[in-house]
Amino acid sequence: MPLSPDLSARIVAAVEAGFDEQVALTQEMIRFPSLRGEEHAIQDHVFRLLRDRGLAMERFEMDEDAISRHPGGAPFTAEHSKAPIVVGIHRPREEKGRSLILQAHVDVVPPGPANMWTRPPFEPAIEGDWLYGRGGADMKAGHIANIAALDALRSIGLQPAATVYVQSVVEEESTGNGALMTHLRGYRADAVLIPEPEEEMLVRANVGVIWFQVETRGLPVHVREMAAGANAIDATYRVIAALRDLEAKWNARKSDHEHFRDEAHPINLNIGKIEGGDWASSVPAWCRIDCRISLYPGISAQEAAREIEDHLAAAARADTFLANNPPQVTFNGFHSEGYVLEPGSEAEAVLGRAHEAATGKELKSFMTPGYLDTRVYALYDRIPALCYGPISKNIHGFDERVSLTSLKRITAAMALFVAEWCGVEPI
Ligand code: ZN
Repeated sequence: MPLSPDLSARIVAAVEAGFDEQVALTQEMIRFPSLRGEEHAIQDHVFRLLRDRGLAMERFEMDEDAISRHPGGAPFTAEHSKAPIVVGIHRPREEKGRSLILQAHVDVVPPGPANMWTRPPFEPAIEGDWLYGRGGADMKAGHIANIAALDALRSIGLQPAATVYVQSVVEEESTGNGALMTHLRGYRADAVLIPEPEEEMLVRANVGVIWFQVETRGLPVHVREMAAGANAIDATYRVIAALRDLEAKWNARKSDHEHFRDEAHPINLNIGKIEGGDWASSVPAWCRIDCRISLYPGISAQEAAREIEDHLAAAARADTFLANNPPQVTFNGFHSEGYVLEPGSEAEAVLGRAHEAATGKELKSFMTPGYLDTRVYALYDRIPALCYGPISKNIHGFDERVSLTSLKRITAAMALFVAEWCGVEPI
């Protein structure tokens, strides 16, 4: 049942009243340099935030075997985070409403060269409407918004009348195994909301993502006999060209995919890292690239991985040098399928009403070409999986920032959503 205008106004006012505190908590989160594998301290911090609010707490490790057996699990490597997953559980006095998962990740991508930032990346700074800092927009602002939405209800003497799980995960930026672990642990609810920086829109469709490495071996000789050797770095240029052909082939298939046919370039291949060779005067014996490519929803990661291997094998057969030195492909991260949020769910209708009440605008939906944890809940829990959050700039780039006025609107929408979806009861 839609919220009464009076309750709705009280909730929006409560978010407004708590907003300074919310921003302070967000700044505190940004100060943790929670790069991959370095999220232990921030997860302890989140644990305390949730426990201090009276939630029942659980903290658990990744189960490598269970994740490896699951089709949505990504391979473990030496870089895989060992930080725990943290879940805070709100239990109502009487379970009357629909249950909900509020999820966020604490891991952030590397800041890159510090001198390309205007200010140090892990020192939060506010300028005008923008809160700066690595991981502020993606997605510590959303993480704290999950908590602030519940705080706002509490500040007016209310709490959700259904179970709410507040999940804080790691590995969102590299494998998606953290979100998958919450599923494998057995957590289930009637809907999930993940406040990633989605420009005040709802994600309708999302690509899957695969990470892989390609290593090419050459023949090392002194450069004076260069013609007798084979340069692994030169050969890698040809491997990259072959991968660009595959990317073009996948983009050409966009007309088969409803939510992607109007996008100019829905499938992006990123050559994210390159290493190779040992010495300026030796023909390089090795070269390795780290790649990321996306896939349309409905295509399994296994199918896509096989096509990558087959495509590279065919390209190698047509190349005099690579035919005898076929490049080796290793899958070392994301191995995920995309998803589509089917229109017409009650959860979407409730979020639409909440968004309209908080922003005065109709809720729009769109396709995003990057990985989202929402896929775990959409594909394996088969529940309405809502990814929706504030306006941002330069996520994964320099001077990452989130709009504070947008964050406040989104938090109000989230609090209204929780109140209507779960129902409310007096504390
Ligand atoms: Zn994110």
